Amino acid sequence: MEDFLREIEGKQSHDPHYAFQRISKCSGSDSTPIIVGAGPSGLAVAACLKERGIASVILERSDCIASLWQRKTYGRLRLHLPKQFCELPMMGFPPASPTYPDKREFVDYLEAYARRFGIRPQFNEKVVVAEHDGALGLWRVRSVGSKNGEEKEYVCRWLVVATGENAEVVWPEIEGMGDFGGPIKHTSTYRSGEEFRGKSMLVVGCGNSGMEVCLDLCNHNAMPSLVVRDTVHVLPRDVLGRSTFGLSMWLLKWLPMRLVDRLLLLAARVMLGDTARLGLNRPKVGPLELKNLNGKTPVLDVGTLAKIKSGDIKVYPGIRRLKHQTVEFVDGRRENFDAIILATGYKSNVPTWLEERSMFSKDDGFPRRAFPNGWKGECGLYAVGFTKRGLLGASMDARRIAEDIERSWKEEEKHRIQFPNFVVPKSS
Ligand SMILES: Cc1cc2nc3c(=O)[nH]c(=O)nc-3n(C[C@H](O)[C@H](O)[C@H](O)COP(=O)(O)OP(=O)(O)OC[C@H]3O[C@@H](n4cnc5c(N)ncnc54)[C@H](O)[C@@H]3O)c2cc1C
Repeated sequence: MEDFLREIEGKQSHDPHYAFQRISKCSGSDSTPIIVGAGPSGLAVAACLKERGIASVILERSDCIASLWQRKTYGRLRLHLPKQFCELPMMGFPPASPTYPDKREFVDYLEAYARRFGIRPQFNEKVVVAEHDGALGLWRVRSVGSKNGEEKEYVCRWLVVATGENAEVVWPEIEGMGDFGGPIKHTSTYRSGEEFRGKSMLVVGCGNSGMEVCLDLCNHNAMPSLVVRDTVHVLPRDVLGRSTFGLSMWLLKWLPMRLVDRLLLLAARVMLGDTARLGLNRPKVGPLELKNLNGKTPVLDVGTLAKIKSGDIKVYPGIRRLKHQTVEFVDGRRENFDAIILATGYKSNVPTWLEERSMFSKDDGFPRRAFPNGWKGECGLYAVGFTKRGLLGASMDARRIAEDIERSWKEEEKHRIQFPNFVVPKSS
């Protein structure tokens, strides 16, 4: 380790790219995997490694675990899927918790999970660069303190990317945004409809978040309208007392996806009616097939549709431009609004800090290889939680990653014992 650090120091003095000042080199072992991100995915990998006797380091930019859930979500949020599909490996939810735990119950579960596996992330450390050093055969990871600006450098044999599909907000460019005059905020900073009581609100985006924020605004006596630019599948959250998601998983064991899609659409038609009449046109491809093709999640209705039917929530097509407190829509209609909530989603931030070309796409920051093969890259690089399959996908990744690291850890350990001066191969 000492030699590695000396070598890094030598390189840095000649390379302006590495001209970091005040870098404190962190002690530890290069055989300690580094996990970037302490959301559910990062915690799941750390726990699976721990079970196999491998300690890891988690670097987290925020000051808590699951910062997406603790810092960026609205008060009424509940898990969209039943708890049995949101469990992390090796620990279920408490039996007394409801089928759809609310966000406090979910965070409590994650905190209990971290305690049970002795996971203590290093908070307030934002990873700004990670790159593979071919000469050392190791990853060099640099972080900056979110609070004190302190720069640190780590080297590791295994690097696990767990920064999530939702690392940064998507803030769309809309003509005239600067002229609107009223508040424009993203759902990541929306907490409750309380502050918008009596106000005329426009919610842009009709995913699960946009639909739920509209409902929340209604429940707080605001007057919400919803912009629905694209086609969308809205399904009832439960069918005949069973979760639609659980039912779909069960049906998929026996029936082809297209047939299950037909059954889902039939159930949706019977329970919700024709959503196209409300301005919510369905895509041509069925909900499961679409999810499989491009990861687009169907909206699971928790009451918003009834409010649209009753006229409490109005639906508009895309926005043409904004003017002072006014929105002009693509169909020529104009309406006045007090504030706008952007339910325009999130994106991955991997291309901003990971210097690597083969595993992650520079365009969207997701692994290039499709599910279930996107979890493993080259030279000890892994990705967890980028499957577009929620927590279930993250848990699958976590198990595979821990198994793979253990295998390679054991192989290298064997070499170290046989050949004490063994140098880690440049790639594997
Ligand atoms: C509103 C909402 C509801 C959802 N409901 C469900 C549901 O019911 N069921 C389900 O299965 N999925 C759901 N999801 C999907 C969601 O992706 C998962 O719930 C889960 O949070 C993903 O975990 P993650 O650890 O992969 O990512 P995140 O929870 O986003 O965690 C990533 C962590 O990485 C940190 N990070 C990012 N960049 C850096 C950096 N450069 N350096 C250091 N740290 C960094 C972040 O601060 C964050 O703490 C929902 C998502 C949203 C937005």
